[in-house]
Amino acid sequence: MNTIEHLSQTRNITREELELLLTTDDRELVEQLRRTAREVADAVYGKRIFIRGLIEISSHCKNDCLYCGLRRSNRSAVRYRLTEEQIYDCCATGYRLGFRTFVMQGGEDGWFTDERMCRIVSTVRRRYPDCAITLSLGERSRESYQALYDAGANRYLLRHETASATHYAQLHPAEMSWQHRMDCLQALKEIGYQVGCGFMVGSPYQTFDTLYEDLQFIRRFEPQMVGIGPFIAAHDTPFADQPNGKVTYTLRLLSIIRLLQPHVLLPATTALGTLHPQGREQGILHGANVVMPNLSPRDHRKDYAIYDNKICTGEEAAECRACTEARFARIGYETVVDRGDYKPNTP
Ligand code: SAH
Repeated sequence: MNTIEHLSQTRNITREELELLLTTDDRELVEQLRRTAREVADAVYGKRIFIRGLIEISSHCKNDCLYCGLRRSNRSAVRYRLTEEQIYDCCATGYRLGFRTFVMQGGEDGWFTDERMCRIVSTVRRRYPDCAITLSLGERSRESYQALYDAGANRYLLRHETASATHYAQLHPAEMSWQHRMDCLQALKEIGYQVGCGFMVGSPYQTFDTLYEDLQFIRRFEPQMVGIGPFIAAHDTPFADQPNGKVTYTLRLLSIIRLLQPHVLLPATTALGTLHPQGREQGILHGANVVMPNLSPRDHRKDYAIYDNKICTGEEAAECRACTEARFARIGYETVVDRGDYKPNTP
């Protein structure tokens, strides 16, 4: 049994296998990894891609993550927040374009109190009972997560960023804690959200050891979704001069995660598309099955600048929707109008 068969059958990986699969230039092995991951994705979800409409609701943030262009210390970041009406308009446009999942993402902006956010969620819930509502608003209290869930949110994306507490401390200021991030993820799961965790590939100080810990964390936590994308340096941040993450590592990790967790929802991220013109298509061909086209108002898109040179900042929602459909049709995949729910593991 070779490494890929071993991975696929045991749904586990050793530290040594991980390093081997990321660094090898054995073309056959690399292609076997990709092909096997894609076969597994096909078996569970078919040649279908789920789309989620991403609404970037605020570029204000009280946190100071060293990698992020929206960190509070970045005085050159342009700050905006959408009004409630703008958010509803994005949903209306998105619904017309066939989106059945809305993802509201933002910096940790105190303006979006539980009261305001619950009103927004319950309004969207009432207007679009057939849609999934996903939130990605960072760390909040358990009570807040519960209130938002009760208001109608179904899913929450909170990347764990790294499963190593030491590495976490190298990416975040002292006032942020790895344990708190983990507690948030646990609370979200207990409340009943479908949860997405994830990490950047090639973040500063990342090693094969921390990546191995990330994969073992994913196996233990069993999230419904895993978001990974390459780290991309953002100007005016402490990591401005750090090298970007590798596209090859990201693609191979997508395949590995698909083999470890066959049923997981796995997006081909915008960051991957930013570092390579065919990054998202390659992501799909390596086992991803989700994409998150931008539904944010065009006027604000360039200001949701978590990293440099982000793609799709000049387009309208309808253009992104059409582009997505065409891109994946070219590689033989159908973009579906569907909530695209997690398919639980059946024995
Ligand atoms: N405030 C929210 C949303 C953050 S943006 C939260 O805390 O969850 C979503 C993700 O973008 C982050 O979790 C991080 O993994 C990623 N990200 C941030 N800066 C990045 C960078 N410079 N390059 C690549 N990805 C980045």
